[in-house]
Amino acid sequence: MDIILKGGEIVSPQGSYRGDVEIKDGKISRIGEDLTSPTARTIDVSGKLLFPGFIDTHTHFKLDAGDFFTADDFYTGTKAAIAGGTTTILDFATQNKGETLCEALENWHKKAEDQCSCDYSFHMSISQWTPEIREELKTMTAQGITSYKLYMAYDNLKVRDDEILDILKAIKEQGGIVGVHCENGDLINELIYEEKAKGNLSPKAHPVSRPDEIEAEAVNRLLTIARLAEAPVNIVHLSSDLGYKVIERARLEGQKVYVETCPQYLILDDSKYLLEGFESAKYVLSPPLRKEKDIVSLWQALIEDKIETIGTDHCSFNFKGQKERGIFLKYPMVYQGWSIVLCFYIPSVLKKAY
Ligand SMILES: [Zn+2]
Repeated sequence: MDIILKGGEIVSPQGSYRGDVEIKDGKISRIGEDLTSPTARTIDVSGKLLFPGFIDTHTHFKLDAGDFFTADDFYTGTKAAIAGGTTTILDFATQNKGETLCEALENWHKKAEDQCSCDYSFHMSISQWTPEIREELKTMTAQGITSYKLYMAYDNLKVRDDEILDILKAIKEQGGIVGVHCENGDLINELIYEEKAKGNLSPKAHPVSRPDEIEAEAVNRLLTIARLAEAPVNIVHLSSDLGYKVIERARLEGQKVYVETCPQYLILDDSKYLLEGFESAKYVLSPPLRKEKDIVSLWQALIEDKIETIGTDHCSFNFKGQKERGIFLKYPMVYQGWSIVLCFYIPSVLKKAY
């Protein structure tokens, strides 16, 4: 049935304005004032904001985290997404060491097939770099993969600086873009070791083991490598003012840098790690929550259009069942896991996750 949404506040890239939206066969057919149609059902949406469908650039559905998978798979994750107005998600197909990129992509297609309630696509995470993998990039391009991810942290995923240089060059040849998890993994391992030696095993030690310098150093190193490769890069889940300052400087010098941040870095601060008992475990995510000054800095960058994307980094683990099973009690996390992110979609999923 055709539908006319009447009198809403239409939010568009050019600003927001009052108007009507007509939908025919599931597609927007007209936008204007005082739209009428004899056959359409009219819904009064005055006082409501009408957004285009959101695109979540960063999810980890059914991700193998060792003992178990992330709490949301493509079925529950995309149902939650669509209920919250997100009509497209981009998940990270992830190459485990020993796998080809084709195998990784096939794995992710299998996870998503016939499960999704919204549109989806994949970035490809590369964890192992060989001449054979380099060759595979052509196949990836042919199969629609144009966006990649590299990790500078997590022993099971991170790639070396020289590999990053070659990967950036190779993906540039394909016309693709690389997003990078910027944290210095070696320093994190050392700080975790120090915290553990002091007996600091609670979630409070999590931000101590991953301070903002760890992010800023990795951003700086990545941007240096990207300059050598003459390739643009995307900094994913940027969390800190210190990291942002490095990006600002590089941009002033003419470097092409894209930035993604996440809702959690815009609305929550590290006081959450001081909550009583295990409660603060809910807020363990990587990079960790930062301070008020970081939130202010990221908002300012957003207002100035200097942050291109907001992705959720939705990588959920149940509070009951998964976190309580002990794996996350070993803070700071030796577990080479993923960010454990609050679900920003719908309350039912919040209930499920925690
Ligand atoms: Zn992520």
